[in-house]
Amino acid sequence: NYKELEKILFSMDGKSYSVYKSLKGEYKFEKYILAIDHVQSDPYAPPSKMRVIMDRKICGIPCELTDTKDKNIAVSDFLTRNFYREIQKIGNDSTGTGGSGRIFIDRCGQEILERTSVLIKRDKVEVRFEMGMPARGRRIMLKAAQKIIFEQLPEIVEKSIIYDNLNKKALNEQVILVLDQEYARKMLKEKGLVAFVANDSVLPRESGVSDRPMKNAVKFKSPEKFEITLKLPSGKEVSGMGIPKGITLIVGGGYHGKSTLLAALERGVYNHIAQDGREFIISESDAVKIRAEDGRNVEKVNISGFINNLPQNKDTKAFSTENASGSTSQAANVAEALEYGTSLLLIDEDTSATNFMIRDGRMQKLVAKEKEPITPFIDRVKELYDDFGVSTILIVGGSGDYFDVANHVIMMDEYVPKDVTEKAKEIAKSDENKREFSSNDKFKGVTQRIPLKKSFSQSGKLDKTKAKGKYSILYGKELIDISGMEQLVDDSQTNCIALMVDYFKNKVLDEKLTLSQVADRIYEKIEKEGLDSISSYTGHPGNLALPRKQEFCGAVNRYRKLKIK
Ligand code: ADP
Ligand code: MG
Repeated sequence: NYKELEKILFSMDGKSYSVYKSLKGEYKFEKYILAIDHVQSDPYAPPSKMRVIMDRKICGIPCELTDTKDKNIAVSDFLTRNFYREIQKIGNDSTGTGGSGRIFIDRCGQEILERTSVLIKRDKVEVRFEMGMPARGRRIMLKAAQKIIFEQLPEIVEKSIIYDNLNKKALNEQVILVLDQEYARKMLKEKGLVAFVANDSVLPRESGVSDRPMKNAVKFKSPEKFEITLKLPSGKEVSGMGIPKGITLIVGGGYHGKSTLLAALERGVYNHIAQDGREFIISESDAVKIRAEDGRNVEKVNISGFINNLPQNKDTKAFSTENASGSTSQAANVAEALEYGTSLLLIDEDTSATNFMIRDGRMQKLVAKEKEPITPFIDRVKELYDDFGVSTILIVGGSGDYFDVANHVIMMDEYVPKDVTEKAKEIAKSDENKREFSSNDKFKGVTQRIPLKKSFSQSGKLDKTKAKGKYSILYGKELIDISGMEQLVDDSQTNCIALMVDYFKNKVLDEKLTLSQVADRIYEKIEKEGLDSISSYTGHPGNLALPRKQEFCGAVNRYRKLKIK
């Protein structure tokens, strides 16, 4: 028990740092068990990994608050934020070296994600955190170690995990909020919608580096034509703009808030915390932002629906390149999204290749069909919806060609959306310089690809995958750049993708399953056995947050040594 830990610590005073290693083990405290799973080897190394394991009865959180997956995620997120806040309150007065005397826990952003930071089971609650074991130089600092383990940690735990000490109202509200958001997302399909933006939502963010809501922003107000009201399980009713299935065009002058609206819809695949301003901006959970990503690697993707007859007869049914152009990368991103499965594509002119999006009547007259490899998105967007059930919301502020194919046209005017569908349709009708449909054949869909095992054996051995920040993953010496995936929101999702790739290459890859099927297997496992099960560590599993299938597959597809059957 903890007396033992006290004794061992006492005997360590002033000894060399590596002696800390022998602390590994479990110690019984008054209200919890402290599990020291991994001890850092020096004060500058990543901090030591520990868990607090508490009996559910002592914790006291009622079962009704955690009896479904969604509720469990809501409570776990709440406790993680609490624990984080209590750490900040305690501050750090340590004078030691490196991360000495500091406690860390995974940091939550504006989204509420499934995480490993706090595990809630029927019989126990487990907090996974890290501690910088105190040192002066490279010598163990007894006093500081005693303080952090026997004073600070118990205080943080007491204040942030024990139900009686929590802000019960806020906890309850967070659970209700998540349930309402999940319900709203389920209602989309029933109402024939792909997205919903509640009135009074705050869409813009504080700055390019802060995801908090902008202060004094113009609040969202739905155009009358699109306004619907959702009755939520909590009894609350929210009104706002329902964006129907089909093709929705967002137009408007520069700087009038188009990209801000689309960005909010991109994030609408996730649930958000109270006060975020986007609590009821809800999109189909499989919505994918599509952008040009020149320079990316593409491996045997069927982009023939968009690109054909490339110079030198390059095959576009199984198109590969190590350095995709704007248009080919965007075509590959669409094809891959269709492979994993999506019901909604989100496209912004700011990050699109113009020649992928449009080709106007004049250009069609000048450059013969046979000479142009690209069938622009405008000639496929209707087929995608009619034949494949995939809706698109896109911003095109610079060309009216999309008026012909759009089902709805929304204009952003000083941050306020207006319905301009009829006017746009009239203009389209009266126009003489019409463009022609530019393809000779129908869109035939995409090809499901089977990843090969040999993609992952560099120099004969299997390396480990490791996340480096939010936007890159290191596999052996190979860097996977995933900065093109704008719907990835958290470093811990990247950590999780790295472990999922590890698991995928070691256990699931069998040369019969397609990438999409392989991903489904992994998600099934996580669903059944929990997010911990993807980690190879025992005890503290690392800071993981569940990414979507879209982002997991997206990372695999950006791996430059990926080989496809
Ligand atoms: P567009 O894509 O139409 O050119 P943006 O969406 O990029 O315009 O928005 C331009 C600027 O206006 C951004 O700095 C954004 O933060 C700000 N903005 C967007 N929506 C609002 C709003 N509702 N209230 C206040 N400022 C906003
Ligand atoms: Mg823009």
